[in-house]
Amino acid sequence: MKIKPKFGNAILADSAREQSYSKIDAHGIFTNFLAWGYPATRNWSMVVTAFDLPMKQSTFIVTIKRRGSSEESVLVSANFAPPDRQNESIFNIRLGHRFEREGSYEIICSFKDYDSTLRIPVRVVTQQWPVITERELDILRKNRNAFMNKLAIQISCKNCNHTYKFEEVIIPEDDVTQGSIRIPDDGNFECNNCGHIMKLLDFKGQVRAAIKENIANSLKHSAHV
Ligand SMILES: [Zn+2]
Repeated sequence: MKIKPKFGNAILADSAREQSYSKIDAHGIFTNFLAWGYPATRNWSMVVTAFDLPMKQSTFIVTIKRRGSSEESVLVSANFAPPDRQNESIFNIRLGHRFEREGSYEIICSFKDYDSTLRIPVRVVTQQWPVITERELDILRKNRNAFMNKLAIQISCKNCNHTYKFEEVIIPEDDVTQGSIRIPDDGNFECNNCGHIMKLLDFKGQVRAAIKENIANSLKHSAHV
């Protein structure tokens, strides 16, 4: 009888790593990607269990597709060695995708040469723009060592590959760190090299949302002091 692999279950997490022979630790399990602008590039881990694996090399394929769209992008297509003892396995796979718009998506796992599939629903949800209030700015100015107030990121132009170091600076009167470029208010930066418009609004929103959260958490914890 020909063995046909079957999928068990899957989770999406910020990160996951092998803990021991047959276990994996996952950290930051989620169902939604939060986005502040598009494109929004995300990297994450996916842990998938599978049973009745063939005792030979097989190809594991992961694709993603937006619901209602016929376009499917391949995230990973990788060969894996035959399982050494049991014919079941846990796959810990690092994935990345550039989301062009919000909506419901499906991550689809399959094996080449077999028709078993596993579909994992995931949503991309646009967040309200995190406006930094005067009060928050005041807190940032007075506690420069306690809170992050700028963050740099290295991003390459998708068109010509030229790499830039950008910095999101929250306190308006502060300068960018030497060697960095301030992210424009609308998040759009025209590549000096080729004229392509690089869209950095999502990164800008992520930094601002994280800073607002830091301040809110800190105020919560110091309320009784
Ligand atoms: Zn360019």
